[in-house]
Amino acid sequence: MGAASSLGHGAQTAFDFFGEKKRVIANMGDSTFFHTGLSGLMQVVYNNSPVITCILDNRITGMTGHQENPGSGFTLQGDPAPILEIEPLVRALGVKQVRLVNPLDQKDMKEALNWALAITDEPSVIITRWPCVLKKLTEADKKEFGDYFHRCEVVTEDCVGCRTCVRTGCPALRFDKAAKKTRIEASQCVGCEICLQVCPKNAISAVKKESK
Ligand code: SF4
Ligand code: SF4
Repeated sequence: MGAASSLGHGAQTAFDFFGEKKRVIANMGDSTFFHTGLSGLMQVVYNNSPVITCILDNRITGMTGHQENPGSGFTLQGDPAPILEIEPLVRALGVKQVRLVNPLDQKDMKEALNWALAITDEPSVIITRWPCVLKKLTEADKKEFGDYFHRCEVVTEDCVGCRTCVRTGCPALRFDKAAKKTRIEASQCVGCEICLQVCPKNAISAVKKESK
């Protein structure tokens, strides 16, 4: 619950002490950042630790059951509340190297990680911002993220059976060994488009599904 930065600082210090050329990436969610992550990140800044902190802002408390939090815009009773934005908070703590990315964009995400890995003399923070797929979107979410509720499907005749998509680990992707083709189980696909981005044959396309 927000200890990632502190633990990351400890691990990075140990690696540095023993001359191990390793970088630490500390992950925490948006609600854990609000819970205790703030204080850990403050110590990272205080110690000028080159830990990379990734704050996975999925716009809700995903881990424990979608409770509201200071960033969601509602109190636990469902009343409107101010939305605490993470980026200004991180900058106010003294982090100068901050990036905000859409985690579903593989190219941007990789670029952000490479950017952070190249910063070796101060803390850096990557904030990934995309709502949890199970979240009931608020009006603010709809305005920011639009209607992204679609799913993907494989155009069978274009699939060459290379399995690149299957290696993403998504459980919705099913490889038919006999046919040497991949298909997508529609009921399990959340339309993240990761498979679409990695397919070398452009054999995967997005199709609209009912909005939430
Ligand atoms: S990556 Fe594309 S071509 Fe390869 S198995 Fe998947 S759908 Fe087929
Ligand atoms: S779009 Fe996302 S959820 Fe759907 S099959 Fe591809 S990787 Fe899996």
